[in-house]
Amino acid sequence: LNGSDSVAGEAVPPRPDLAGRLLTTALLSGQIGQAYLFHGPRGVGKMAAARAFAADLLCGAPRDGRSCGACASCRAAAGARHPDLVIASPDGMTLKIDQIRELLRRVTLRPVAGERRVFLLEDADRLTLEAANALLKSLEEPPPGTTFILVTTNRDALPATIISRCAQIPFRPLGIEAVSSLLREEEGLSPSEALFLARLSGGCPGRAREYARDPETAAVRSRAAALVDAMDELTLDRALVVADELERLYGRNRQAMEALLDMSALEAAERLRGSVVRTGQAGTWLRRVATIEESAAGLRRNVNVRLCLDFLLMSLAQ
Ligand SMILES: [Zn+2]
Repeated sequence: LNGSDSVAGEAVPPRPDLAGRLLTTALLSGQIGQAYLFHGPRGVGKMAAARAFAADLLCGAPRDGRSCGACASCRAAAGARHPDLVIASPDGMTLKIDQIRELLRRVTLRPVAGERRVFLLEDADRLTLEAANALLKSLEEPPPGTTFILVTTNRDALPATIISRCAQIPFRPLGIEAVSSLLREEEGLSPSEALFLARLSGGCPGRAREYARDPETAAVRSRAAALVDAMDELTLDRALVVADELERLYGRNRQAMEALLDMSALEAAERLRGSVVRTGQAGTWLRRVATIEESAAGLRRNVNVRLCLDFLLMSLAQ
């Protein structure tokens, strides 16, 4: 997802956060590293920032270090057809040795348009060990004018040898309030809907936009609300029926299942905050929120969907 890709004729403004300031400092000082590691949660804007940084480095007429958005280089970079910008993404589950060999072959060539070339690796944590080893030497001693940008949501999965050769650029969630106002302004959501989806996204704008634009979101949310509404009356027999229903609906769509559990946890947390909670019920709702969050965490660790649902519904029924 590259939610905020630049279009031709429009320069991307620098991000105001730590990542943006680190990159702006590098551009203004002209001290461009050989390799950068952009890391942070999914949907936080790493790929969009990596493309913008590549455009800054390749621009023919930069202003204050930033790309002009209008020159031939910027237009080519925005259209992902710049000859000196090479982007490698996982082929299936992994970034394979053949992909890295092809990329390294291009590293040895001279830049086509200007003085600099940028090699962008998306989901770099999916490099196979062989591919990572092949990349190491080039990361350490690239030809002049070469910059690598590795992008990852899971830095811990990268070999320490790769991490240590890159300048670290941490991307953090924008924050609930910032994402909420972005959803109101750009997606036209109501304040309460915007706030809910901003919380659901963990403050990551890309994920929040994904939820806002997904036609399934409303249906999943009303399922979540129904599940939470039913909790007070949930018997063990009924719990098994609901588990079956949910497995039938979302058993083959892990992402929807994760969204369902995350939304249920948020809905339950709203009940905890709201007036629905009568004296003495706060403990019950706290336990419910914790149980749902535990199930969601299990799902993320790849626990079997059926087991997660049985655990969730039976714990809630007791
Ligand atoms: Zn330009």
